[in-house]
Amino acid sequence: MEALLAEIRACRACEAHLPLGPRPVVQASASARLLIVGQAPSLTVHQTGLPWNDKSGDQLRRWLGIDRAVFYDASRIAIVPMGYCYPGRGKSGDLPPRKECAPLWHDRLLAQMPHIALTLLIGQYAQRHFLGKTARGGVTETVEAFADYAPRFIPLPHPSPRNTAWFQHHPWFERDVLPVLRKRVQQAFSAPSFEGPTAA
Ligand code: SF4
Repeated sequence: MEALLAEIRACRACEAHLPLGPRPVVQASASARLLIVGQAPSLTVHQTGLPWNDKSGDQLRRWLGIDRAVFYDASRIAIVPMGYCYPGRGKSGDLPPRKECAPLWHDRLLAQMPHIALTLLIGQYAQRHFLGKTARGGVTETVEAFADYAPRFIPLPHPSPRNTAWFQHHPWFERDVLPVLRKRVQQAFSAPSFEGPTAA
């Protein structure tokens, strides 16, 4: 695992498209039980090199019911975005994760984490990649159908403050999804392991 992480951190495959240059931000270990798959690092995450070290991360930790000490414990939690480097900004926020990234690294990295019991799929890119045709028409519909993806996956919206209106318009998320999410995160830390996540 350490050799692979060093290889990832030295990656420059899509350097020409990265306005601030490559800085892959990944947390992983062979013993991880919970896998969090997000989109791509924010500018703050790029600058600090720490995944989810921003307001979105604060919200995500509240959703999961865990503090920073647990969140950044790589022996328990792997944090792997769909694009490992900050992709830059577009007209309406950060650009999508670089498409080169997941095909280059995901399968090799996930193959070295055989004890993952639960995978959280945050946003459309992670949901499309892991759920394939079983993803619904959009993030809202996929998250609403979260029970269909048990026990391996839980699809989630992005916890960005930019999505505050979405949370206000979909109170069922806080009411119905978060209690299940917190319970299953705790179960993942103690449950027997599955074979590991595979993309559909
Ligand atoms: S985004 Fe992925 S493919 Fe591109 S340089 Fe970073 S690690 Fe390599």
